Amino acid sequence: MKEKTDAVVIGGGISGMEAAAALARLGAKTVIVEEKDRTGGHVARWHQLFPDGSASGELLKPLHDALQGVDIRLNTTVAGAVRNGNRYGLTLSDGTELDAGAVLLATGFSLFDARRKEEYGYGIYDRVITSDRLEQALTEQKGLGAAGYDPLRIGFVHCTGSRDEKVNNRHCSKICCATAVKQACELKELHPSARIYCFYMDLRMFGRGYEDMYLHAQNKYGIQFIRGRVSEVAETIEGKLAVKAEDTLAGQPLRATLDWLVLMPGMERHEHTPHMAALFNLAIAGDGFFQTGDAYNRSTTATQPGIFLAGACTGPKTYAECIGEARAAALAIYEYIRKI
Ligand SMILES: Cc1cc2nc3c(=O)[nH]c(=O)nc-3n(C[C@H](O)[C@H](O)[C@H](O)COP(=O)(O)OP(=O)(O)OC[C@H]3O[C@@H](n4cnc5c(N)ncnc54)[C@H](O)[C@@H]3O)c2cc1C
Ligand code: SF4
Repeated sequence: MKEKTDAVVIGGGISGMEAAAALARLGAKTVIVEEKDRTGGHVARWHQLFPDGSASGELLKPLHDALQGVDIRLNTTVAGAVRNGNRYGLTLSDGTELDAGAVLLATGFSLFDARRKEEYGYGIYDRVITSDRLEQALTEQKGLGAAGYDPLRIGFVHCTGSRDEKVNNRHCSKICCATAVKQACELKELHPSARIYCFYMDLRMFGRGYEDMYLHAQNKYGIQFIRGRVSEVAETIEGKLAVKAEDTLAGQPLRATLDWLVLMPGMERHEHTPHMAALFNLAIAGDGFFQTGDAYNRSTTATQPGIFLAGACTGPKTYAECIGEARAAALAIYEYIRKI
């Protein structure tokens, strides 16, 4: 038998959680469908968040608490969808059938696979890691300590797989400059004698308080920012990393021997996006993310009636942007289901 509900939210990251909680507060019967065994999405894997260093756990707790009254189906995804007049019939992966007035896609993003940038040596050299792995190490308060290395020399590579035609990602991932600055400062707290270098193309510190983070990183922690692209990484006999780059401000080639290299992989469309787009007959934009109604007033509507969008499934976004968009989507859904 079909279970009738007002709204189904696909994806239980911060965007899906916030939208579902807002819908429940408005009195709409709401189901979250989340393929993982927990809610929180990517944010549950981060340590402290820019711009002010808040702990992710502290930010997630009120979102979890607000989900009382929302029906959450973990380890579940959507296997089939049909439009029945104004409503949608969904078949979940566990065989459950839902009859929904509206559907919100809050399916988020996938991280760029840094192995695709072979020149950086990720997957080949153990000391080349990615920002998400560093978040894990920071959560465990491990940092990148290693006996025999003093001072540690650490490089960050911005724009790994973003703004890069060669990997078919022209877009800026928006969050990785600020993440690199945040992680570099956190590492300096754990390893005060470390020398840290950020290799960047442009620094996009666009948000409120972000420029202060950047100044703080230089003035308090002595992080060095080098405008240039890393072109080659190789391992030395001692197991360190020989890095070649071009300092485009000084107009000189540059060589450095580092203990660690942290790559900043960009945000790409979630791997399920083409499948979800096919299920609901939705358009995908040129950058691979879901197409929105327009770029101004209809950023939370998809290209089919009754289907809405929120968060990083339509492009790279910060935490605060996702929360704002989730609330806007919830309101749009509420207005929609009252009319059908
Ligand atoms: C390394 C890194 C550090 C970051 N640090 C910060 C920071 O300090 N401050 C900040 O503001 N932002 C930060 N961000 C950005 C932040 O992670 C995103 O804004 C946020 O995760 C987007 O939330 P979301 O809910 O839209 O997507 P996600 O977090 O990706 O969640 C989507 C959810 O949907 C689920 N899902 C996907 N497809 C399906 C499906 N078909 N069926 C069921 N479930 C599905 C997924 O399992 C996941 O739980 C960082 C990003 C990165 C990459
Ligand atoms: S935010 Fe910075 S590191 Fe990320 S893609 Fe944009 S310019 Fe590159």
